Amino acid sequence: MRLVMKFGGTSVSGGPRIQNVADLVCGYAKQGHAIVTVTSAMSGVTDTLIRAARRAAAGDDAPYLAAHETLTEQHFAALDHIIGDAATREIAHKHVTRLLDDFANLCQSIHVLGEVTPRALDAVASLGERLILPILAQALRERGAATEAIEATELIITDDNFTQASPVMDATRNKARARLMPLLQQGVLPVTTGFLGATRAGIVTTLGRGGSDYTATILGNALDADEVWIWTDVDGVMTADPRIVPDAQTLAEISYGEAAELSYFGAKVIHPKTISPAAERDTPIRILNTFNPTHPGTRIVRAPRANGRTVKAITVIRNLGQITVEGRGMQGMPGVAARVFSTVAREAINVLMISQSSSEQNICFIVESAQAQRAIDALEKEFELDRLRGNIDRISAQDKIVILAVVGEGMKGTPGIAAKVFGALAERRINVISIAQGSSEYNLSLVVDEKDADEAMRAVHKNFLVG
Ligand code: ADP
Ligand code: ASP
Ligand code: MG
Repeated sequence: MRLVMKFGGTSVSGGPRIQNVADLVCGYAKQGHAIVTVTSAMSGVTDTLIRAARRAAAGDDAPYLAAHETLTEQHFAALDHIIGDAATREIAHKHVTRLLDDFANLCQSIHVLGEVTPRALDAVASLGERLILPILAQALRERGAATEAIEATELIITDDNFTQASPVMDATRNKARARLMPLLQQGVLPVTTGFLGATRAGIVTTLGRGGSDYTATILGNALDADEVWIWTDVDGVMTADPRIVPDAQTLAEISYGEAAELSYFGAKVIHPKTISPAAERDTPIRILNTFNPTHPGTRIVRAPRANGRTVKAITVIRNLGQITVEGRGMQGMPGVAARVFSTVAREAINVLMISQSSSEQNICFIVESAQAQRAIDALEKEFELDRLRGNIDRISAQDKIVILAVVGEGMKGTPGIAAKVFGALAERRINVISIAQGSSEYNLSLVVDEKDADEAMRAVHKNFLVG
């Protein structure tokens, strides 16, 4: 099979884990598979880089100077663990030093300018993957594999929406195939960087945080891969985040639709944009555990086998605020909803969920906490006159709330799901602030207070997904 395998941050954190990844890739290559490997930065590195750049913009040069030192040590330690030959080690050290000197120079410029543009942020953020790339390639070489390290700037062409770039698929397809297909045909194992691409002009971009999963399916699509395997630190997509719900179980198969819904509603195990390039060509995605590689994990396919359950999983999105526009005079006042949402859209604020009570006396919607005040200010301005006339009484925000999403294709047309969810929450005296059912019917979303989030997850999980 032609496979794209992506390894996440925890799977490549440190020399021994990088060797484990090299063993896995070589093992599958020996079985006759043609493999393109995609690597994330070591875990925490991207955070460190971005924080250092932002602090530099704010006038503080200490974080980037400290990061220069710790990142050098961290990558040297991994290299020293992997490379036996002194001369090869020396070359590898020089490469790491050059990239980290670039990082320090970039941060110094940011410090002098007192601002960091999205383009500069991408130049910094992409360094984590670029640092680890030659280390993983060397680990493969040490196992006797023919390999080539290729930065994804040579493979993935994107638009110039820095920090959230989208691939230009036709150009990417041509570029990636021209570079990778001959290598695969010669039995070489190419390794590339997740998370990043380049504009047509060759400027580095990133695909959004956690975007290495997306890199894997973009390349899977471009190369017509048979499957895309995403290696992470858990046994696949589970019925809930195992860090919150300890008895969460692995789902053997889920659909593209379910996976997209789960990732959109907070299941960090897959980046939300990952599904569409695979679904477009019906390419199965597997989610596997590098720390438990014999576990079959999860397959994400168009038509999964039924597992006998209507609800497949439950997820949570945190750091949200609910905005409410209310007023007795709203009843029968045409166009209020349209004005509310066009005001918010003009501010480029993303609305995650909407609900309106049947009395028509209020409209509620959910946004990220960080954007709530901006939404309120814009709405106050838009409805100033209506407030004076007494049609709108109040525009308010409730902070520290979460959306809980109950997801499963079998929910479509199955009565009683909502009642059972509310029953589980009522039993534990958890107040539901508002609810919405997505038009896909794959998803029942409810809003609860942040302090109730974990307890609510465990309650719903117990009633639907255990036993
Ligand atoms: P990687 O670094 O490999 O990309 P991430 O940290 O991005 O890994 O994603 C894996 C994590 O996602 C897991 O450790 C787990 O805590 C979290 N997670 C959240 N929801 C789920 C879920 N439904 N199933 C599995 N993991 C989940
Ligand atoms: N290293 C990047 C991040 O931390 C991309 C990824 O890990 O998927 O966001
Ligand atoms: Mg991830």
